[in-house]
Amino acid sequence: MNVDNLRDALNGLEKVSRKLEPSTTEMEDWNSQVMKMGVEMVDHIDHIPAYYGIHHKNKESDYLDWQNGNSGIATALEIFKRTIGESGINAASGGHFGYIPGGGVYPSALADYLVDVFNPYAAFYYANEGCVTLENAMIKWMAGLVGYPDTFAGNLSSGGSVANLIAMTTARDSQGLVPNNIEKSVIYFTSQTHHSIHKALRICGLSHAIWRHIEVDAAFRMSADHLRETIEQDISAGLKPSIVIASIGTTDTGAVDPIDTIADICEDHDCWLHIDAAYGGFFILVDELKVKFKGVHRSDSITMDPHKTLFLPYGTGAVLVRNGKTIKDSHYYRAAYLYDAFHEEVQPSPADLSPELTKHFRGLRFWLPLQILGLEPFKVALKEKWLLCQYFYCKIQELGFEVGPQPELSVCIYRYETGDDRANSFNEDLMNAVKEDGRIFVSPTTINGVFWLRAAIVSFRTHIQHIDQLLDILNTKKEEFLAQERV
Ligand SMILES: *Cc1c(COP(=O)(O)O)cnc(C)c1O
Repeated sequence: MNVDNLRDALNGLEKVSRKLEPSTTEMEDWNSQVMKMGVEMVDHIDHIPAYYGIHHKNKESDYLDWQNGNSGIATALEIFKRTIGESGINAASGGHFGYIPGGGVYPSALADYLVDVFNPYAAFYYANEGCVTLENAMIKWMAGLVGYPDTFAGNLSSGGSVANLIAMTTARDSQGLVPNNIEKSVIYFTSQTHHSIHKALRICGLSHAIWRHIEVDAAFRMSADHLRETIEQDISAGLKPSIVIASIGTTDTGAVDPIDTIADICEDHDCWLHIDAAYGGFFILVDELKVKFKGVHRSDSITMDPHKTLFLPYGTGAVLVRNGKTIKDSHYYRAAYLYDAFHEEVQPSPADLSPELTKHFRGLRFWLPLQILGLEPFKVALKEKWLLCQYFYCKIQELGFEVGPQPELSVCIYRYETGDDRANSFNEDLMNAVKEDGRIFVSPTTINGVFWLRAAIVSFRTHIQHIDQLLDILNTKKEEFLAQERV
């Protein structure tokens, strides 16, 4: 092929490849249709279901129609709304009380829009010092909340699971766990520890270490006495206590482990203390709850999920490590082709502190809402969630339900005690009835064989009206079931 032919061919290809760049009018038209759908959804949020149910109606072929020709944006948006926007759990709803709800404050969506259009490269300082400085600033703010010394480093991850993985990998290396000592190394946590810790330990090669379940007290908090005893027994047996995982806000009940005492034990026995505060971490912003965080600054690492208790959209977690050198030692890589990366480095770069290289610049969706709205509404919303949970805890008992321990943060477990062996199925039926109603979504847990319903009050859109609605539905359904049993 000679050069002139090549030019002709390239001109022909360019005509089509330029379709990837819509015209200004087209962009404006698409923007307005997309924005309209987003704003309308938020506008109607209190009148649409919190739960749409599972109907097994979606087929992969629905999403491959483009192979038969493109459709234009209106059809694409219709497919999105019908099959995704109105499907399963409406996680944007203030009526979402299941699992640990997320958020989705609006300015974050606009941040993501800008990030996707500008597409800055956020992995290395030299590629975009603004991205890295902004993310490091947000991490520094969190480290300040926790009270870490300025040796800290951290990473904004996709979520709590990856944050826990980064922490476990760092702990493994920092504690010198290698194949020839792993079977004598011991890792401690409770039955209430989130399963992402089990996954993280397995992924980072610690499944052959000894895993010990430490007992919990009546409020599902780690027993510090049992931790100390177990560690001392393990030392006598010639084993090496290595890592302790505590929680601030367990998923089942929102329990907060006694961090300060656990930190004493870890210090005495040279254990790495990791705190999984994926759900509970940002409650440190509530003055009345600060006492529960006593000793957090003494941990070696901590996971906090801005996509939970800072109400950001999914895909924003964070891990902080007190001695920043350790997280870098476990995660950096000096690739020969990344010459600039280590010649221009002034600040730690995300790529040196996580398994990721190229990544979404998730810092902007964290920063923009705070920059526009300030911290105050976030703090107040967290206090509101905590008090809504206390309110629910009192009211549900007035309706004759049994409750678990007094909620420490914003998760309450409850069940109706029928007084016979049908109690579990009665409560399961109750849950299904709430889900069928659709205005509120609830999820259960099973603790020691007992089926509990949970109210996890975490959405920034949840206010007292939603709690009253749930109480009303629960009471009505419970009375209906009891009446049916009587006839
Ligand atoms: C949600 C949660 C996780 C996992 O975080 P993801 O962001 O879902 O990956 C870990 N630990 C606790 C305590 C959690 O509540």
